[in-house]
Amino acid sequence: MKNPRINLHIHSIYSDGNSTIENIIKKAISEGLEHIAITDHFTNSWKADIIPSLDTNSKIDRYRSEISSYQSDLKRRKETLQVFTGVEIDLGSSKEYILKHIKPFDYDLILFEYLESLESIPFIKSLLILWRKAYSLKKPFPLLGLAHFDPSNFLCQGFQVLINFLLENEIFIEFNSSYSQYYSRKYSLFYEKVKEVGILVSIGCDSHDTKRLADINGPWEAVNDYLLQNNLFELIKKLNQIERKRQ
Ligand SMILES: [Zn+2]
Repeated sequence: MKNPRINLHIHSIYSDGNSTIENIIKKAISEGLEHIAITDHFTNSWKADIIPSLDTNSKIDRYRSEISSYQSDLKRRKETLQVFTGVEIDLGSSKEYILKHIKPFDYDLILFEYLESLESIPFIKSLLILWRKAYSLKKPFPLLGLAHFDPSNFLCQGFQVLINFLLENEIFIEFNSSYSQYYSRKYSLFYEKVKEVGILVSIGCDSHDTKRLADINGPWEAVNDYLLQNNLFELIKKLNQIERKRQ
């Protein structure tokens, strides 16, 4: 089976990455990547004092418009590479802060990081309801996913609650090459369930520089080990649909 050339978790100099979006795109083309998402950090948690993030509306506007100009450029040049506009939201952020700055339909993909306890599930659910009310009752949400998800927090308690939540809200799970411990064999019970119920999965590298932009073999092997290839291909289909709809 063909190894999909996909990395949906990349940081640029708009947050704590070391590369410009331009350099990320150049390197992605030279690595033969086909689907990438720029997913810079958004947070007002403890992390905000340590790393730069998308912290003002004007910075967010510049970020989005820069990605968008590369999207048009790649299309014009008929490149195979598709670039998606993402954001990584730290679940330690306050709801008010998220609502103030993040308009969900401005993105193709939203990653939530640090879903580590059952309490974070109602947090995301209420955010989705508020976003719906504020912006659009009908439009489908962007792709929603859990960055570097650690299943260990849910194996003893809340397993089924988590699975139902992911299914009902069509939230994908990321295989992140920077956190291979989260797809270790000891979590096979979790990944068997992901396969059984058809939760989508993605591949991301958490790349902070261009050296690790195509570090995707480990996650792809894990996807194969757990027989989750179709769960990944379904996600790629959705990405292709988003790309086709883009003007
Ligand atoms: Zn990240």
